[in-house]
Amino acid sequence: MSGMPAMNLSEGAVDFIDEAYMFGLLAGKKPDAVRIREIISKSLAKTALSVEETAELLLADTPELIEEIFAAARELKKNVYGNRIVLFAPLYIGNKCVNDCSYCAFKRSNTAAIRRTLNEKEIREQVECLENKGHKRLILVFGEHNAYDPEFIAKSVRTVYETKAGHGEIRRVNINAAPLDHEGYAIVKASGIGTYQIFHETYHHETYARLHPENTRKSDYLYRLDGLSRAFEAGCDDVGLGVLFGLADWKFEVLGLVTHALYLQQRYNVGPHTISFPRLKSASGVDIDESLLVNDEDFKRIIAILRLAVPYTGLILTARESGEIRRACMSFGVSQIDAGSRIELGGYTEAGDAQVMEREQFKLGDVRSLDEVMGELMNDGYVPSFCTSCYRIGRTGEHFMEFSIPGFIKEFCTPNALMTLEEYLIDYASPETRMIGEKLIAEELAGFPEGDIKQDVLLRLQEIREGRNRDHYF
Ligand code: SAM
Ligand code: SF4
Repeated sequence: MSGMPAMNLSEGAVDFIDEAYMFGLLAGKKPDAVRIREIISKSLAKTALSVEETAELLLADTPELIEEIFAAARELKKNVYGNRIVLFAPLYIGNKCVNDCSYCAFKRSNTAAIRRTLNEKEIREQVECLENKGHKRLILVFGEHNAYDPEFIAKSVRTVYETKAGHGEIRRVNINAAPLDHEGYAIVKASGIGTYQIFHETYHHETYARLHPENTRKSDYLYRLDGLSRAFEAGCDDVGLGVLFGLADWKFEVLGLVTHALYLQQRYNVGPHTISFPRLKSASGVDIDESLLVNDEDFKRIIAILRLAVPYTGLILTARESGEIRRACMSFGVSQIDAGSRIELGGYTEAGDAQVMEREQFKLGDVRSLDEVMGELMNDGYVPSFCTSCYRIGRTGEHFMEFSIPGFIKEFCTPNALMTLEEYLIDYASPETRMIGEKLIAEELAGFPEGDIKQDVLLRLQEIREGRNRDHYF
């Protein structure tokens, strides 16, 4: 790791969250329809928005302007990215934690929490269960603890990749864990991870200090803010941002996310791969201050405005939300969702359908099976995708390419989505879901222009159906 700064922080690390400036923007004059349309057309012309322009979208609060923003987000999603939704599942590896984040059931002061760390055999059992449901992409989740050092995280990742059940395999493992130092990122990266996610929780300094007690590791705002910069310096150029909405003013948090995304883009030439926007949910041992919770209408605004502001970043909507809300929000620009999720440690094989609060980090809103979610997505006209191609081929910045390279989606994303969907239908789907899926694939193919790509896809789909070959991708 030559050329790397000896210190803990990234080179030239600064706290780039200028609160006074951001609140100043949010106290600005409300934009009129002409101005909002100007900003929307910039985004639809495939240019990322500035923090100032994002603030103007946040200030637009008449029903008509909000509807225009929603319509623009839908248009951008539909015209640029099409109708694919990537599916994944979370796998909680350990909930021991040295921190005391007031909103989280894993906080060290929550004596009611049942603490557990999966051993290698238990990880394998969980992964086999997930593979037998049809999953190909996982995110591993960890509390912050000395036991969960980079070697441990890397070992867990390797165990997941090595575990194969039937035709099942996990082809991409993402991580949500504490910020690491340079060396730590390099160790974890070497195990073959996809995205490294760190949610800043709240960009608001005073709130951050209040919710993360001073004597805990997570209380260091700058160390966490700088976490993904260190990841870049250590060679992890695939990172995910997030905010836990419901802790501070949501408009301010959106500006925080956009500021962070632009900072990474400017500094490392690559923006974040994904942004997550979880809303605070009830959790064991947690008292929630309801005054800042984000209502459903504002939640949709968050998604739509993020879609327009950072058009080349994937947006992740998790099963914290109910099936109904997820369905209502999907069209605003969501690109990834988890499905069939269980977040109790060992929950895929042990917990049954009931959620045991002492065993999980928060309460899930959508506990439907993967098959059920797949069926609903397809009935609504979406193409569920398990594609992991860009990551495996080493094409980094996949969302950026989808967005900016003409023909990229037609040539790569849609064929890969259809082929991974076919694998699911053949190997794991219920008869009903399989019927819906085959019909959808036929319709999608009918829309393909005649030519080599279509012929190639038809041939490969046939191979998958006949069980001659799996795991095709372009
Ligand atoms: N322990 C690591 C950390 O804090 O960075 C890993 C992440 S933690 C296991 C995953 C995320 O869950 C947190 O970053 C936080 O945003 C979210 N979370 C915590 N408590 C929550 C709650 N009550 N409702 C919804 N999300 C919550
Ligand atoms: Fe620990 Fe993460 Fe929960 Fe904070 S959010 S208590 S660091 S698991």
